[in-house]
Amino acid sequence: MSLDVIVLGPPGSGKGTQSERLARRHAILRISTGDILREAVHMDSSLGRAVKDILRSGGLVEDSVMIAMVRERLSHADATRGFVLDGFPRTVGQAQALDTLVAERGPLVVVNLMVPLEELVRRLSSRRICGTCGVTAAQPSCGDAVCGQCGGTFVRRDDDDPAIVRARLQVHADRLQPLVNHYRERRDVHDVDGTQSPEEVGGALDSIIAAAERRWQSQAG
Ligand code: AMP
Repeated sequence: MSLDVIVLGPPGSGKGTQSERLARRHAILRISTGDILREAVHMDSSLGRAVKDILRSGGLVEDSVMIAMVRERLSHADATRGFVLDGFPRTVGQAQALDTLVAERGPLVVVNLMVPLEELVRRLSSRRICGTCGVTAAQPSCGDAVCGQCGGTFVRRDDDDPAIVRARLQVHADRLQPLVNHYRERRDVHDVDGTQSPEEVGGALDSIIAAAERRWQSQAG
């Protein structure tokens, strides 16, 4: 039996951290479409050149490109045990394609990490990056902390300014809602309080997964 998990949530909700940890705990594949696209840009591949400006503007890469990418990735042997998706699906079209791709596999668990807007603004606008090498520091305790990697100074990214953060979160919320509705009409969407500690969120995810596996086994058995 495979275990497939989709983690939905706005930027700053802890989606990346949770999907990484979950993949490690359950020995399943983590697929971050943002990471794959950033790597393609970094490698200057034909995909990278095609999506570079879209990534820079925060727009969405076309559904057909994204669906082909995920379909290809899921066809590898290391996806057989299951996967956790971070950043996909982002549109109802992508969700419909994924429904077809995962039919006939084990349970599909959809998790929605919920964090109030003001907390997201606080988290994102306190994030700092090194002005020299670009590494991200979640929340350095003092403004002039020095980068451990290169000795550079931490600065706030232009798009982490609170006013811009609010606008980005609004765009994201408008996109997320139809997606959550798509899943709510078809299956359980498990809302998880993302303001808890990372360990508590991880524990909540594990309980949801254990229950889904039990349900799946009793239906199959
Ligand atoms: P992320 O790291 O998930 O925030 O993704 C970074 C950027 O990659 C996004 O702002 C989009 O431009 C693009 N991207 C990632 N995943 C998708 C997706 N499923 N559909 C469309 N564009 C995506």
